[in-house]
Amino acid sequence: MPKITFLIALVLSVFFVSAHAQETTAPAVDQSIEGSLDDVLNAANTETSMQQLQDIYASLTPDTPVMSRVRTLSYIALDHAYLGNYEDAQQTIAEVRMIANQSRLADAKAEVEATALLISAMQGKISQAMANLNDALIPLEQAQLPRVKYYVHNLAAYLYGQRSQFDRSLEHLIYAADAVAETNDGRTLIRLLSTKTQIANLYGRQKNYDLAIEQLDDAQRIAEENGLLEDFQQDFMFERAYIESQRNNYDAALGLYQRLRNMLKDNPDEITSYLTVLNNMGDVDIRIGRYEDARTVLNEAYNIAQLNQQQFNPEIILFNLGYVDVFLGDVENGLIAMRKVIDDARETWSPAELEQLLGEYAEALIHLQRNDEAIQVLLEQRDLRDEAYKGDQQKSIAELQNLYDSKDKAMQIELLSQKNELNQQLIENESQKRTILLLFVIVAVFAMVLVALLYRAARRSNLELKVANSKLAEQSMRDPLTGLLNRRALQDKLKSPHPASQDAMLLLDIDHFKRINDNLGHAVGDDVLVEVSKRLLQVSRESDLVVRWGGEEFLIYISNTEKAKLPIMAKRMLDVIGATPIKGGDREISVTATAGFISYPFADLHENQMDWEETLQLADMVLYAGKVHGRNQAWGVMALNKPFAEVQTLLETDLPGAIEQDAISVEIIHGPEQQKHK
Ligand code: GH3
Ligand code: MG
Ligand code: MG
Repeated sequence: MPKITFLIALVLSVFFVSAHAQETTAPAVDQSIEGSLDDVLNAANTETSMQQLQDIYASLTPDTPVMSRVRTLSYIALDHAYLGNYEDAQQTIAEVRMIANQSRLADAKAEVEATALLISAMQGKISQAMANLNDALIPLEQAQLPRVKYYVHNLAAYLYGQRSQFDRSLEHLIYAADAVAETNDGRTLIRLLSTKTQIANLYGRQKNYDLAIEQLDDAQRIAEENGLLEDFQQDFMFERAYIESQRNNYDAALGLYQRLRNMLKDNPDEITSYLTVLNNMGDVDIRIGRYEDARTVLNEAYNIAQLNQQQFNPEIILFNLGYVDVFLGDVENGLIAMRKVIDDARETWSPAELEQLLGEYAEALIHLQRNDEAIQVLLEQRDLRDEAYKGDQQKSIAELQNLYDSKDKAMQIELLSQKNELNQQLIENESQKRTILLLFVIVAVFAMVLVALLYRAARRSNLELKVANSKLAEQSMRDPLTGLLNRRALQDKLKSPHPASQDAMLLLDIDHFKRINDNLGHAVGDDVLVEVSKRLLQVSRESDLVVRWGGEEFLIYISNTEKAKLPIMAKRMLDVIGATPIKGGDREISVTATAGFISYPFADLHENQMDWEETLQLADMVLYAGKVHGRNQAWGVMALNKPFAEVQTLLETDLPGAIEQDAISVEIIHGPEQQKHK
């Protein structure tokens, strides 16, 4: 079961953490004790690690810094729990909690509370842990030690994952990766690998199996290159086997489980993992109808689990055995066993897991043709599934990914809305000249701010976060609403040196879009944006890049084209948008757009003289001229008639002047005729 696999990964990750790098504001620690605690993480098994911890505890003096004492005691509490002595664990927690509270150190409080939550989770009390999560998260906000931050965020990610709140889970995992980045010592890679394994697990639970496998491949490669494979091999294999069985590659899954079984058997410290393997093998056997095989392997597991109830909940195995009974003819006993497990699971299991149990129970009922009962179970399953995999949640994950990938995004949105407001003023303002100048200056200032922010963000970025986010980056190339490329995608493409070809850019802004939003609602506005995107794609070539440049602004980047063809292309764009009304809700909406276009490089100017952004700026300026002159038209900058150096300033500051003085030639194309009333 994934629940248990992941718990193991989490416990491992906790034990891999160490403290070295510290900021000046971080609470004091005793380096030699911290070193010994690091060594405990390498202990051969829990008994030896407990012995080491007791020795360290005995060596503490009244002068030992609080944080080192807290860490020692927390590890002792965890070891108690790991050995199944939950009472001792609770007692230790009570003791260390008092120390932490007296110290008033945020790091200490966060560490203790997180340890208490982890122990609850190890006992299967996920709801209780969730209810108390803030006890750890609130002090965490003030915590300084990267080790503590990594630990607590990991735990939060695990708990949210258990509650199928994958967006929050991913958020905390990324914070954990951030904390990894604050350290640079022998364990940085280990933390990175453990974080990646968890990200893979998260993707698996979201049913993004390809992404999950990619993360694992990546982690495996890093582990191999750094001689760490031995430490992680089991985790990787568990994750892989789970994913393979979820995507119905049963032979692959069984092969992996068989290998794990051989690796784990005869090792008394690995009973939990061993039983997980056996149970999961039984699970797969059931799915492919090998009921006798399933019964054999599950019986073996059940016998061992009964002797080691602290390590593995035999109920899970009973459920699967019940299922096997049903299919092998022992119907009543089988159903009773299954139902009992479900009733217990309602209390403590996450919706996603309970949902799976219900699905299997319903299957058993359907097999018996007890359809009425099956329908009841399926209805309950459907409700749980809605809860577990809400569409909203998927959406907010996409948003979150965007947010983390481009930390400047919020800034961009702010800039865009400010720019839009300025556009509006421009149209209403009679002295266009001054406003254009103002607009230009402000946009330039904002652009500089943005560049400065990007520069800072870039400096802050680091290897670990990059790796963890590399997958997210791919997804952040597209705008979630329209599926078009986004601004970042184009910037990325144009960043690399430009081959000597004749390209062009057409910038297009929907006319009076605000009215659509205001009159018909934002949702209809969104529908219009989606439809306009589709239409633009229809009339674009494969090689063109159609980009959602801003709210209702689109940029078509046209590769390798003759300048003479641009007016025809622009006409086609205006026509495809304006010729037939767009359905929004139950209304037919007449939509038009205004565009500005220009070839790039413009007038054979070198990139040093006019790069793509400056070229686009010019298209932007003629677009607004098009707005001023009545909208539903495209303005193209067709030629530069004077030496660039002479007219550069004029072009940048006074477009109408530049046109009037014939510094550039402009061609105007009109869109389709519109009915007078909308
Ligand atoms: P014009 O361009 O013709 O001057 O008028 P406009 O009404 O289109 O003016 P403006 O560019 O200022 O308005 C753009 C509006 O688009 C403002 C903003 O609320 C809205 N908008 C931006 N992004 C979205 C979006 O994703 N969905 C919806 N529905 N509206 C958006
Ligand atoms: Mg606009
Ligand atoms: Mg507009």
